Amino acid sequence: MIVNSTVCVVGSINMDLTIAADTMPMKGETVMGGEFATYPGGKGANQAVAAARLGSAVNMIGAVGNDSFGSTLIDHLQLEGINAEGIVTLSDVSTGLANIIVSEGDNRIIVASGANRLVTPAHVKKHKKLIENSDIVLLQLEIPMETVISTLTIANEYGIPVIVNPAPYQQLPDLVLTGSTFLTPNEIEVQTMKNTPRFASIQEKVIVTQGERGVQFYDRGVSRYLPSHQVAVKDTTGAGDTFNGALASQLGGKVQLARAIQYANAAAALSVTKVGAQGGMPTGQEVEQFIL
Ligand code: ADP
Repeated sequence: MIVNSTVCVVGSINMDLTIAADTMPMKGETVMGGEFATYPGGKGANQAVAAARLGSAVNMIGAVGNDSFGSTLIDHLQLEGINAEGIVTLSDVSTGLANIIVSEGDNRIIVASGANRLVTPAHVKKHKKLIENSDIVLLQLEIPMETVISTLTIANEYGIPVIVNPAPYQQLPDLVLTGSTFLTPNEIEVQTMKNTPRFASIQEKVIVTQGERGVQFYDRGVSRYLPSHQVAVKDTTGAGDTFNGALASQLGGKVQLARAIQYANAAAALSVTKVGAQGGMPTGQEVEQFIL
């Protein structure tokens, strides 16, 4: 269902520099790749675009550098209909960049954080109206952990639900485990999370995305599993981001958890059928047609 919701994303904004290759280079190896392309990315921006394409109003809080990538990325987010008033342009730092190698439907990524490292708690506090005016907050871990914590604190204060996508994985402070409404690790991230002593007590808020195998979650205390859709895979970059943006869009619109996950599972499946993190993110109409 296309729902009415406002999502606030506090997160990273990157330019993705992508090379497609027949073979994934191993350690110490150089291989000849194919096409090079630039795509707007960053987990924060990707998830913001996913939610916006699905019809949500999106407020983005973040930072870019005072370079050409930065201005291109802000223009791009605005073209996607995202409110960029919470995005600051900083001097003396580069815009976040990601080097991505895509090979045989798989990917390897290295990120230079740049301005994303300077998304501070003070910056978020300055824009806390954007949080207050949203139905749900969506966070990832490409900005400093202290900023993730202070965003959670503000959202908790206003009673606004928060999805934390713990990617790329870092040790999660107790406040993140307890203050979040949902955590959305992938299969690799959840393995590490399971080593935290608190995991057992927060397990029911964990939604595990399992790539081509689907999604594992708890619905009112009962463990459930939803298989993924069979699709022709072109590029899995951004599958998790599409899932998270879609989940926020639906939960922000008060859709019941199992239905919201079903919708996000469909949106993410559509996203892997096209190239680029944001390139394959579907519109609400496309998801509706796919589900029917
Ligand atoms: P991440 O991109 O964060 O590693 P996953 O690989 O777990 O996340 O993928 C997130 C979601 O995207 C999955 O739960 C599923 O809904 C969807 N998805 C990912 N890969 C595929 C695939 N090959 N076929 C269909 N759906 C997929």
